[in-house]
Amino acid sequence: MSNAASDPETASGHGLDLFHPSDEHALLDRSLRDFVAGEVEPQAAEHDRAETFNHGLFRKLGDLGFLGVTVPERFGGAGLDAVAAVQLMEVLSTSDPGFGLAVLAHSILFAQNLAVNGNDEQRARILPRASSGEWIGGMCMTEPGAGTDVLGMRMTATRSGDAYRLTGTKTFITNGGIDDHTLGDVFIVYAATGEREISSFLVEKGMAGFSLGQKWTDKLGMRASFTAELVFEDVAVPVANRLGEEGEGTLHMMRNLEIERLTLAAQAVGIAERCLRVMVDYATERKTFGVPIRNHGQIQRHIAETFAEYRAARTYVYDTARRLSLTATGQRLDADGTKLFASQAAKRAADAAMQVLGGNGYMGEYVVSRLWRDAKLLEIGGGTLEAHHKNITKDLSRDASILGG
Ligand SMILES: Cc1cc2nc3c(=O)[nH]c(=O)nc-3n(C[C@H](O)[C@H](O)[C@H](O)COP(=O)(O)OP(=O)(O)OC[C@H]3O[C@@H](n4cnc5c(N)ncnc54)[C@H](O)[C@@H]3O)c2cc1C
Repeated sequence: MSNAASDPETASGHGLDLFHPSDEHALLDRSLRDFVAGEVEPQAAEHDRAETFNHGLFRKLGDLGFLGVTVPERFGGAGLDAVAAVQLMEVLSTSDPGFGLAVLAHSILFAQNLAVNGNDEQRARILPRASSGEWIGGMCMTEPGAGTDVLGMRMTATRSGDAYRLTGTKTFITNGGIDDHTLGDVFIVYAATGEREISSFLVEKGMAGFSLGQKWTDKLGMRASFTAELVFEDVAVPVANRLGEEGEGTLHMMRNLEIERLTLAAQAVGIAERCLRVMVDYATERKTFGVPIRNHGQIQRHIAETFAEYRAARTYVYDTARRLSLTATGQRLDADGTKLFASQAAKRAADAAMQVLGGNGYMGEYVVSRLWRDAKLLEIGGGTLEAHHKNITKDLSRDASILGG
């Protein structure tokens, strides 16, 4: 039989490369890995130690076209899909998840969000600058009194003629600043326009009343990203800076959270990959009782369990990316599922790696202690584990047809 569709090997997907579904994806993977080896890895430990964001490196990523990974080409982006966004976050996180988080906040929480939820005037004015790295963006959802319960936010936007007046405080904002004195350039800000009604706005540096509050220092991990409080004191934001219609903010937020959670899960996969590389090498080199420690069953258990979880997480993440539309909504189940599983797998991977390395694992030189600290954020940011439990249970109770499907 010559019909390809009836060839059992083709039909069972033997030709499918889940992780590089096209030549373009394979090329992207190689370019990213070269960039990470040459530019990201040499600076990672230093910026973690100093708790500083490497703005110069960020601009280099912009020059290479990575910052607008999913932004349509007509707005200066690379016009790629969710698989490419996952590759970007995975590969950066094999080396520097903190820097990766800053890239994620910019390219996914801001640029991808604007590309989908903004209008053409907003996109044309801002996205080319965001894609090149000339401007750095972020997303402001969390407040001192409201994180998971986002509809409980206190920040208000009150319409007054051709502008809205925004008042309130946002906190834990990645890219809120570039350094201690410099505010980020542009943000998508969610604010209440009514009782449990949220709208989205573009707030730009230079708007009167908009300022950088405290920088969060001494974070457990992700120290190469800048996390800040942002203060809004009666900031006049033109109606032209509202995204979509009044009250559509919850929809924008939920739509963006899907790709946010998937790319955070990709960060977890990158962390697990690096942990495996480190522990396999170390277990071969390090000898105790006259043999490499990889000969000991308990060490083999750490390596093998981590490998299986890494493969499971990576496959789940890429399979979800392959099916995820960048413009649709209603894809929450697997976005939450990937982050729920991969974030915990990454934390276990970093813990196993530290155990395999013994005292050396506890020392900064061997990287895994930094990855261990970074991994924890993935169980909190962009939705806590408990939020994923709640969402997954709710979605499955409504429709369980995915099971066995
Ligand atoms: C380094 C870092 C970077 C961040 N970057 C950004 C950013 O760029 N933009 C942004 O907007 N936010 C950002 N965040 C905020 C992050 O998304 C929130 O911290 C997260 O959503 C949790 O909110 P919370 O901290 O207010 O915790 P809370 O919502 O107060 O939760 C506290 C605990 O209660 C649990 N809980 C809450 N509700 C329930 C429930 N119904 N059932 C069971 N348990 C529940 C939670 O799971 C958690 O364990 C960042 C946070 C960090 C640490």
